[in-house]
Amino acid sequence: MLNICRECILKRDWEIVKPHILNVHKQVRALVDLPPEPPKAEKKNIKLKCNFCINECALSENDLSYCGLRNVERNQSGELPIPSKRKGYIHGYLDPIPTNCCNAWFCGGANNTYSYAAFLYGCSFNCLFCQNASHKQISKKYMVDVESLADRIYNNKKVSCICYFGGTPEVQLPFTINLANLILEKIKEEEHPRKFRVCWEWNGSGNKTLVDKCMQIAANSGGNIKFDLKSFNERLNLALCGVSNSRTLENFKYLAENYFGSRGEYMPEMSACTLLVPGYVNYEEVELIARFISEINPEIPYSLLVFHGDYQMRDLPITPRKQAEKCLETAKKYLMHVNLGNKFLLGFP
Ligand code: SF4
Ligand code: SF4
Ligand code: SF4
Repeated sequence: MLNICRECILKRDWEIVKPHILNVHKQVRALVDLPPEPPKAEKKNIKLKCNFCINECALSENDLSYCGLRNVERNQSGELPIPSKRKGYIHGYLDPIPTNCCNAWFCGGANNTYSYAAFLYGCSFNCLFCQNASHKQISKKYMVDVESLADRIYNNKKVSCICYFGGTPEVQLPFTINLANLILEKIKEEEHPRKFRVCWEWNGSGNKTLVDKCMQIAANSGGNIKFDLKSFNERLNLALCGVSNSRTLENFKYLAENYFGSRGEYMPEMSACTLLVPGYVNYEEVELIARFISEINPEIPYSLLVFHGDYQMRDLPITPRKQAEKCLETAKKYLMHVNLGNKFLLGFP
């Protein structure tokens, strides 16, 4: 699909590589009626601005935001009401603990309870291998009111945590913060308040002030924020995901330096994972990511995920076993807690 290899992405003249990459993403996004790039309307034509993520969309009357959630006309006509702290586009379900959550390898979640898996629609990236592409099917029918959802989750005493994922939660951060606060406030009023953890799994591209608020909630509730560090080289992120990873790396560093280890209990406040895309995310890329994490704190848990073809990269094979082993060995040189996820794809138990 990408029709360009890792070496060329990283080393060839960017003036030649960049237009090719932009064109691939443009074609892929056209298939689902999403704009090729974040809209940047001229100042005099701006009708709606959003700064929830790195894309910082500035929309004129007819523009659609990069994530697909914001459009002046459709928002005003009620066809696609604008998400807010009170209304969100979300699909939730109960996941028994221990869950298939990417953090299950170290999470101290309470067995025989449930995680509320909160799948948020919309995304700030455009990964060609997206394994949750249904987040692009944004529809009014998935709009949920925050108060009623908070009541539903709170009233089920078997739910001991909430995991925000998607898509990526960044495109609806105020809603996720509000929902978490409402649930936690209700729990605080109980005679014997129960433990309720709040976790986010995201691509890390969010607004710094908002991600800081999320981190405080996760840290205080005993939860975790997991960053999907898709690559270290910005060019590679642009090629695979359509958007720069500069905000992701900045946010990871800022939050880890300020919060990791602050709670002093076993469940780590943050973690990271990387999908081993064959031919693109190899041991050299993993080495750069692992070194970056270790320079902040070598105790941050890091999970490498075996890839299987999906969305527009179905032509790629499963990560070869040799690549997975080499990446694992490389990451372990830098970090103390490294895991291989999706290993059933390689025939491991
Ligand atoms: S507490 Fe967080 S990491 Fe653990 S199962 Fe729940 S959502 Fe996943
Ligand atoms: S960040 Fe995740 S949900 Fe968003 S496009 Fe990439 S893989 Fe898909
Ligand atoms: S969340 Fe990001 S992509 Fe969506 S409208 Fe806001 S700035 Fe644009």
